[in-house]
Amino acid sequence: PPPPLSPTPRIFRSKLPDIDIPNHLPLHTYCFEKLSSVSDKPCLIVGSTGKSYTYAETHLICRRVASGLYKLGIKKGDVIMILLQNTAEFVFSFMGASMIGAVSTTANPFYTCQEIYKQLKSSGAKLIITHSQYVEKLKNLGEDLILITTDEPTPANCLPFSTLLTNEPYPLQETVHICGDDAAALPFSSGTTGLPKGVVLTHKSLITSVAQQVDGNNPNLYLKPNDVVLCVLPLFHIYSLNSVLLNSIRSGVTVLLMHKFEIGALLDLIQRHRVTMAALVPPLVIALAKNPAVNSYDLSSVRLVLSGAAPLGKDLQDSLRRRLPQAILGQGYGMTEAGPVLSMSLGFAKEPIPTKSGSCGTVVRNSELKVVHLETRLSLGYNQPGEICIRGQQIMKEYLNDPEATSATIDEEGWLHTGDIGYVDEDDEIFIVDRLKEVIKFKGFQVPPAELEGLLINHHSIADAAVVPQNDEVAGEVPVAFVVRSNGNDITEEEIKEYIAKQVVFYKRLHKVFFVPSIPKSPSGKILRKDLKAKLC
Ligand code: ATP
Ligand code: MG
Repeated sequence: PPPPLSPTPRIFRSKLPDIDIPNHLPLHTYCFEKLSSVSDKPCLIVGSTGKSYTYAETHLICRRVASGLYKLGIKKGDVIMILLQNTAEFVFSFMGASMIGAVSTTANPFYTCQEIYKQLKSSGAKLIITHSQYVEKLKNLGEDLILITTDEPTPANCLPFSTLLTNEPYPLQETVHICGDDAAALPFSSGTTGLPKGVVLTHKSLITSVAQQVDGNNPNLYLKPNDVVLCVLPLFHIYSLNSVLLNSIRSGVTVLLMHKFEIGALLDLIQRHRVTMAALVPPLVIALAKNPAVNSYDLSSVRLVLSGAAPLGKDLQDSLRRRLPQAILGQGYGMTEAGPVLSMSLGFAKEPIPTKSGSCGTVVRNSELKVVHLETRLSLGYNQPGEICIRGQQIMKEYLNDPEATSATIDEEGWLHTGDIGYVDEDDEIFIVDRLKEVIKFKGFQVPPAELEGLLINHHSIADAAVVPQNDEVAGEVPVAFVVRSNGNDITEEEIKEYIAKQVVFYKRLHKVFFVPSIPKSPSGKILRKDLKAKLC
């Protein structure tokens, strides 16, 4: 019988003690707090050119950009849009904006004109910093909009990035007063389950989140002074912005910027720059675990591999471990609204605690997590799946211009409801089962697609897979799979169905298998199930 529900919330906490977090500071002051001790160390390396910027140079350029933005009329509280791939200018713009109390909204440069327009309007951005190749689609977006491009030649009606590089760096003693509750970033959620939502993250939330990861005597994610951190995930998504860029700058380590993912270039950069930490998403884990090219490179420098943003099953994590036996592999679990990190593997701590494959780590310190029953809303104990909720100073202030959505997500007691189903095991490790919205309902039984995907990907003849519901008159919904065969393989639908049927209870069996050349995924590594579902109609 299930253990009784407790009416008083069962609250899970980190195994690491709480620490003092200086979240009254402005974000840039906090990130560059140890500048004097790292000023000559490389802060940024641009992968494509090899150009590098020391911490002193980086900080100075950020201050010059701050002044430049100010001179263009950007004031405290104003929003700028960063529409850039992973480049040094991204970092200068984000930090420069922070220095004058302006807010950065980050967007995918591959977005269509319409998508950009939507984000521009809802964020109220006054200025866009982008690459010249994207300027064409920004035409006619607004009379007063200032366009800045980072590469030469500068297109008509745009200003070159050098306009921002004034000779008078922004004074170190800030002239604008920034308080913790002021917005610093306006990232948008990935739009996996609906339209992307604008999320207001303050100086306080971002500092808290970074500190929860890398601060303290025994940081949850310990970066060593000579670490080189791979930044291949797009900085316009909060995972990379927070857990790669801000964490690294706070820790005084080197960030290797890669503007787009390509497996050969990625492996070459890891080898050439002796990368020590790689932040990945499951599609990249699949590439590293399955691509034969990996064997031709020396990846022995890698000591930490973090995966986040989407489910990573135990088996896939184990296959990557066989390829990178020297590295500690672990997961983090994040959500834009949560600032974004909810949990992180304690295997990355300075005094590491080994974690299980497939687990998303333990709730971050200075924070509370609970798991609530889907119907009764009572909080659950160990090993009982329910909706994960988080509380702490790192969570978002609100959804942009959407008080209703905000109050539906953050309750009166300050708990943020994630919409993810998961449980905490008796070692305080968190396992995500699936998203509430994505669980398939077969005659009332719950079928988590992520579990079936994990099994499918573990098959050597399957390169990638996704599972979605198909409407069914009798069962309501049935799980069906989209499968990418690995090179030269001719595995059949029947073989795949049988392979799954042997491993799962009857209601989780696959009803159909469709072979496809690739699985559609978002830049933040999530399966675009809505695109696949549309194919079934
Ligand atoms: P939208 O909210 O717009 O539909 P989204 O939720 O995908 O999009 P993000 O904020 O980028 O946008 O992603 C957060 C979600 O990603 C989490 O709610 C969770 O479902 C998923 N996620 C993040 N990390 C993990 C992980 N380690 N394991 C499983 N799922 C994860
Ligand atoms: Mg979401």
